Formats: sequence, structure tokens, C-alpha cells
Amino acid sequence: MTRRFALMIEPAASDDPRTDFATTFTEVDPSAPALTVGELSTQRGDGVFESIGVIDRHAQEVAAHLDRLAHSARLCDLPAPHLAQWRQAIARAAAACGPGESIVKLVLSRGVEHGPAPTAWVTAAPAADFTAVRAEGVRVVTLDRGYDLDTPARAPWLLLGAKTLSYAVNMAALRAARQRGADDAIFVSSDGFVLEAPTASVILRRGDTFVTPAAQGAILQGTTQQSLFEHLESQGFTTAYETIPASTLPAVDAAWLVSSLRLAAPVTAVDGAALTHDRALTTAMNAYLLSPRD
Ligand code: PLP
Repeated sequence: MTRRFALMIEPAASDDPRTDFATTFTEVDPSAPALTVGELSTQRGDGVFESIGVIDRHAQEVAAHLDRLAHSARLCDLPAPHLAQWRQAIARAAAACGPGESIVKLVLSRGVEHGPAPTAWVTAAPAADFTAVRAEGVRVVTLDRGYDLDTPARAPWLLLGAKTLSYAVNMAALRAARQRGADDAIFVSSDGFVLEAPTASVILRRGDTFVTPAAQGAILQGTTQQSLFEHLESQGFTTAYETIPASTLPAVDAAWLVSSLRLAAPVTAVDGAALTHDRALTTAMNAYLLSPRD
């Protein structure tokens, strides 16, 4: 059964002492219009968002997603989100999900042009079926991201570490990857270092060590990557944040793209060169990622 849900939120100030925010929520018909034409999220992509995986009505890693929402809001000079209010909105959305995998999306927009306040809402919907991609993996190409590792410090207005609504570039990169006969992409900085995928973090394996690029403002801090690193550590593996030359990609023992909805997708080829795919390890990673996580 298709279950969709939408809740408009009147954002509370971050120091609002209330503990119950029910009166700030308005459930709306998810298939009916809910935004006005002056909305800056739709006109300019001016806002931030989060996509949270929900498994059997359990929203995964809510604290990590709310931390990143607050971080993105800070980078964009948006008012600090009231985390307890957002938690309650997420709980309402997760409770409205069906069994199996769903997605809860949080949006905090600049609001209406000349309007008094930001606009905020939460939606829930069934997730796409990622069974095949988790099992069979993705072929990736490396794509130049067009900036070097120093750019975030030099040009913070590019908002590179914020999860903004402006995903047109990320979607264009996916199209470019498909035009090159691949399924997905790994962005590389113009000075030659591994960054992230257009909608996922990159994890590489070298022996018993799992590495990912240090965030340092150039990429999003992935909630799935952080959760998986904790799990891998608990299994006796070593994890590390590194500055990774893209030239070392062909030599890794394995690679994954990881994100909240798709979870761990093994990389089976980089720029046409095959990579080893450890099916048992990927299955174990996804079993962990599908278990309830907080
Ligand atoms: N990097 C980018 C650009 C993303 O869009 C995403 C997820 O949407 C990620 C990384 C992975 O983040 P998470 O694991 O929190 O979903």
C-alpha cells in the first residue's frame, strides 16, 4: 500500500521552552499544493534538507541527521532548527509510514519572498527498491568537481559542506556518468583528490582499513558512513579519514557508495577498470544498515 504523508511546520525559535510542538504542525494532503509561488525553495533552491531512511517505521540515525540539518542551516544563515520540534515531526512522519523501507524528508526553506519566516515541512513516502543495486553494485566514473580542496575555506558562500536544496549540479553529474556508460560518479577535486558521489559518501577498503575522505567543508559529512565506521570498528576493523589521491583508486581492495536510502552499494568498476566485489561483506554491511540504528 502506498502511504504518503506531509506535515507543515511553523518553525519554533531554537530556545522555545515548549516540550510539545503538536500545535505547530499541520498535516496536509501530500498530493495537494502546499507552497505559495513566492517560495524561495522552489524559486532559488534556497534552503536545506535531509533524507532519513525509515525501516518498519523506525527512523534511522535521527540525531546525526538533525546535527547535519543544524550545520547546513548555520552555513546558510538560516535560523537554528529547534531539534525537539523536528524530532516530534519526524516521529509523526515515521509513524505514518508503512512496513518496510520508507523515506522521511525534512525541508527548511528560506521561506516566502519578503515573508516573515522560514517555511518548513516533513514528508514521508515509500522508498525505492534498492535490492538489486545493493547486491549487484554500481559502475562509476570519476568526474571533476571543478574546485580544489582549498575552495571551501576561500569561498564559503559556495556552501559546499551544506546539504542545500540545490541538487541540479549533482543530478547533472549523474546524467554525465550515464552518458559515459556508468551508473554513478565519484567526484574528484580539481587538485586530484577523492570527494564524494553526487548522492552518497565514498568508502574505500585497503586491507583491514576502511577510509573515507576527510570532510573539511568540501563534502557532506555522511550519516551512513559515520554509522558504518562505528560498526566496522566494533567488528575489529580500522577506519580512517584521509586525503585520498584519486590516482590511488585503481589500487583499492574494494569501494562502496553509501547513503541513507540506498545504503551500501558496492563499486564494481571505476572508469572502466573492474574492482573486486566482496559480496559477503556488502551483505553484512547492509544487514547492519537495515537494523534499527539511533
Ligand atoms: N554526499 C552527498 C552529496 C549526498 O547527497 C549524500 C546523501 O544524500 C551523502 C553524501 C550521504 O549522506 P547520508 O549518508 O547522510 O545519506
